[in-house]
Amino acid sequence: MYTQTLILNQTYNPHEVVDWKDAVTAMFKGAVEVLIQYDAVLVHIDRHSLLTFPELARALRQVIGTDAEELTIKVPAVAVLRRRLSATKSGAKFSKLNVCLRDDFRRQYCSARLPMSELNYDHVIPRARGGKTEWENIVMTCFACNQHKGMKTVTEAGMRLLKVPTRPAVLPMRGPVIDYRRAPPKWEPFIAQVA
Ligand SMILES: [Zn+2]
Repeated sequence: MYTQTLILNQTYNPHEVVDWKDAVTAMFKGAVEVLIQYDAVLVHIDRHSLLTFPELARALRQVIGTDAEELTIKVPAVAVLRRRLSATKSGAKFSKLNVCLRDDFRRQYCSARLPMSELNYDHVIPRARGGKTEWENIVMTCFACNQHKGMKTVTEAGMRLLKVPTRPAVLPMRGPVIDYRRAPPKWEPFIAQVA
């Protein structure tokens, strides 16, 4: 069974991936509208029960937006946010995710894009030589480049940085990094492969 729900922003681009239980909660709070469901049924309420519990029927119909005579709630596969998000976020805190966002998930020596799990911190000035773990001294890199650079500086290692790391004033809001090989087929219309 698939256990994750893809949440889209209002322009139908991936915003985040959440546990389906959180998606159901968001649905009942009115924060998201479910677009596509998986096949697994969470609850089925037949016509008789809906007639017996009109209040429940009304509440459910309001959330689900249907006037069908029976209700079936399935595990949500894709949902869209009802509110608009701003395109950037400010007050960038130093974290691996935020450094990845600043560096556009690109390895700063060999330039290809990778999912966050395959990117590592590289200290531009090596830690052993006094380099600190801060915005101005950290870039994202792959394991191979990291090993190659070792305790050398960028110049000593004969490497080149894509750009000089700085503390960003704002970060771009980017969608989640999705593992395409393992993404549910129902997400396909909404996820574009990142080259
Ligand atoms: Zn690399």
